[in-house]
Amino acid sequence: MVAKKPSAPAAKLTKAVFGPAATVFEKLQKLDEARAKLDESRQDLLESAKSELLARGQAVVAELKTLGFTYALIEPAKKSHHKQEKGESGIRERAKPQVMCPICKFHTAPQDHDRRSHRNQVLKAPFDAAELARRGLTRI
Ligand SMILES: [Zn+2]
Repeated sequence: MVAKKPSAPAAKLTKAVFGPAATVFEKLQKLDEARAKLDESRQDLLESAKSELLARGQAVVAELKTLGFTYALIEPAKKSHHKQEKGESGIRERAKPQVMCPICKFHTAPQDHDRRSHRNQVLKAPFDAAELARRGLTRI
């Protein structure tokens, strides 16, 4: 371990850096290969363990059935998890971007409106409180 101590002068620095970097790259490549193999054997192990357990479970379910109990081995759908994520992040809460009416220049609730809502007005003007109330809208 003492033989290859990196004590290179400045001129040889690039070479000294490039050399180890290349071997590190090779090491990383080998590690990646090893990881791929490990992943594969991990998958194999999981699959065989799963099928073994499923077989056992099905045997138990069959046994229960002989005793008059109806059970089933079910793998729950993974959809609920996604829903939860979306709900928590709140990204999907607003269905469409709120567009402010260019005439009123304010948003309304429960829904926004646009200039088409003003087509009955002779003089285009922002909705007043009475008009908003008539339309079931509130200014926000
Ligand atoms: Zn408006």
